[in-house]
Amino acid sequence: MAADNDVIVGLEVHVQLNRLKSKMFCGCSTAYHDSPPNSHTCPVCLGLPGSLPVLNRRAVESGIKVGLALNCRIEENTLFYRKNYYYPDLPKGFQISQYDFPLATKGQVLIKGEDGERKIRITRAHLEEDPGRLVHAGTIDKAKYTMVDYNRCGMPLLEVVTEPDMRSPKEARIFLDKLKSILDYLDVFDGALEGAMRVDANISLKGGDRAEVKNISSFKGVEKALSYEITRQRNMRRRGMGVIQETRHYDELRGITVSIRSKEQAHDYRYFPEPDLVPLRVADLVPAIRASLPELPDARRDRFREEYGVADDHAKSLTSEIKVADFFESVASRAPPKLAAAWIADVLKGELNYRDAGIDRFSPDDMVEILRLLSEGRISDAAAVSVIREILDHGGSPAQVVEALGLAKAGDDVVLQAVRFAVSDCVEAVSDYRKGNERALNFIVGQVMKRTKGRADPGEAHRLVVEEIERSQG
Ligand SMILES: [Zn+2]
Repeated sequence: MAADNDVIVGLEVHVQLNRLKSKMFCGCSTAYHDSPPNSHTCPVCLGLPGSLPVLNRRAVESGIKVGLALNCRIEENTLFYRKNYYYPDLPKGFQISQYDFPLATKGQVLIKGEDGERKIRITRAHLEEDPGRLVHAGTIDKAKYTMVDYNRCGMPLLEVVTEPDMRSPKEARIFLDKLKSILDYLDVFDGALEGAMRVDANISLKGGDRAEVKNISSFKGVEKALSYEITRQRNMRRRGMGVIQETRHYDELRGITVSIRSKEQAHDYRYFPEPDLVPLRVADLVPAIRASLPELPDARRDRFREEYGVADDHAKSLTSEIKVADFFESVASRAPPKLAAAWIADVLKGELNYRDAGIDRFSPDDMVEILRLLSEGRISDAAAVSVIREILDHGGSPAQVVEALGLAKAGDDVVLQAVRFAVSDCVEAVSDYRKGNERALNFIVGQVMKRTKGRADPGEAHRLVVEEIERSQG
């Protein structure tokens, strides 16, 4: 779908700073993801009387890091507020957040949108604490009961708010991928953990009121929820009904959005400065953090293109995750870089994806070895793919796998013999080919590959089969 000009999307992204050791205002461990419910709690994050918050310095530093990477202005002074509302997952009756004087403002991120490069403006990035988690028995509107888990309560969150600069669900997805990649490089969060990044999306059609879709927990969900909302709002408009400004919940199971309440306004929350935390001067922290920023994905992509001559799409694919980029550089220092780029981006990443595994499942040394065998013509492309699969599934070194599976390239005589056999055997396919059916050739080449157990080079086999058919004709 091309970007629709009348679609307006803005995002609020809640990023859990889950690489930090402790929560935002207490000493509870952030590593709760595999723990029983309500086991990572204390008087502070449970909001018990008499408990006082102590700000996590590292959370502030991480927030500044992200702010700088998003090209934001870091405010000299920042302030925490109480955002008052009642909900069972918020035991204090208010959330400590920021309002005026957020940590970072006025940034921008460049994305490759559907109609070329697009600038997505960042309104602000501010720190806050995560509420607990409600677990509904069934769907949100029909649940018989709901349970609450306070392990997440008080987790350090960074809320990144964009201007309404996206023009389609796809662009929202592209922006989120980019943001995730930047966060990955900054090592402030682990995107693989549940709830690491949650998105509220504001969406409207030009001239109409907007709806806010809350708490979408996957990027695929964002695209789906927005597409659903666009269709719903278009239908309302067609029937002459206005879109009501409201908050809607995305029901992932059913793939629809459901109205929860009319949209609240900022003043409904009775924001007031948090009296238990003093105003914070952060300006002095900025220079050192700026100096420690790593090379970010865009810069690294450009460098891969220039330094290694890697194709643009490969450079992009290799730099979206920092671990993959490091893996590539480790291999490229010992193997032909373009060959390494193609095998890592096109083959290895696909095989890892298929197995839902990360790059740490494969060793750069093994990749170097596989590329060496390929370069020296000792294994075919097909065999190299088999070696990668076998190592991922059963382990072993490339040399062991080549030996055990008999993948060393078949000698010329063996291939030629297989070609002759296949051509004389596949009478029907040969006659089809002679009648002009090019595809019949694939079948014959397939027989050659089968007879050589995949050890022939398919291109070479193809050439030899054509030669053999022509020879046997004359
Ligand atoms: Zn706690």
